[in-house]
Amino acid sequence: MTTNLLSFSLDYFSLEGKTAIVTGANKGLGQAYAVALAKAGADIFVVSRSGDCEETKQLIAETGRRVESFQADLGNREEAKQVVAKCAEVYGNIDVLVNNAGTILRSPLVEYKEEDWDTVMEVNLNSLYLVSQEAAKVMVRQGSGKIINIASMLSFQGGKFVPAYTASKHAVAGLTKAFANELAEHNIQINAIAPGYISTDNTAQIRADEKRNAEILSRIPAGRWADPSDLMGTVVFLASKASDYMNGHILAVDGGWLAR
Ligand code: NAP
Repeated sequence: MTTNLLSFSLDYFSLEGKTAIVTGANKGLGQAYAVALAKAGADIFVVSRSGDCEETKQLIAETGRRVESFQADLGNREEAKQVVAKCAEVYGNIDVLVNNAGTILRSPLVEYKEEDWDTVMEVNLNSLYLVSQEAAKVMVRQGSGKIINIASMLSFQGGKFVPAYTASKHAVAGLTKAFANELAEHNIQINAIAPGYISTDNTAQIRADEKRNAEILSRIPAGRWADPSDLMGTVVFLASKASDYMNGHILAVDGGWLAR
């Protein structure tokens, strides 16, 4: 026997003593990721465009972990570049970065506006790249780190009426692999979560469309939309020692959508 198999324990999933940044943490999936990481023991740096993340901060306070917030419009590159420096100023180290903030703008392809394309690309892709690059600099110095990008079913499929979103989420999957390849030697793991269909503001429009809603539900083997809480275990796993040999993986949490 070359390894001590009995050294494995559930402590591998603990984030005790770690610091995590979550972007877009004021609501939806970002709020669930932030609370999950806090429940697993991490102190959290919540980033939000619209205000103070009051509700998320309250939830994290109930876990007994420290939480600090920072307001940034990730559609603005200069503001995106400040996120990591601000977190480092407050906490000193950055163990986990969850690039969750994202936006979706829908319209038929031939009518798709150039400014909508730019808005989606700036938030979903360019800011993710810039924040990750800044985090990587800190993590290389530390000799460890985890970056978790939020991909989508539209990292694999084309979708309809959301060309910019699809392009950005395919690029997020590609960047996840590119970052993972270069940073693995520094003990930094970069992976992505590809959520299926989750009940949040992002999907309110399609859930309200009876026909579209029925089409979607009929294709999900699990037979239901997910709740943000369905993603909490996955984010903790990817942030923890338990996933130390995962590099550049796009992990679908989709009730079986892609398996169909
Ligand atoms: P959501 O409820 O609409 O939340 C989106 C988050 O991103 C909000 O916190 C929002 O902040 C933030 N955000 C948007 N534009 C921003 C900007 N310019 N600067 C800073 N923050 C900005 O959507 P969600 O469903 O939780 O989505 C979270 C992530 O999961 C996104 O990357 C999304 O693409 C991805 N995703 C969602 C689903 C789904 O079914 N819901 C499926 C696959 C992937 P504000 O509140 O200030 O706008």
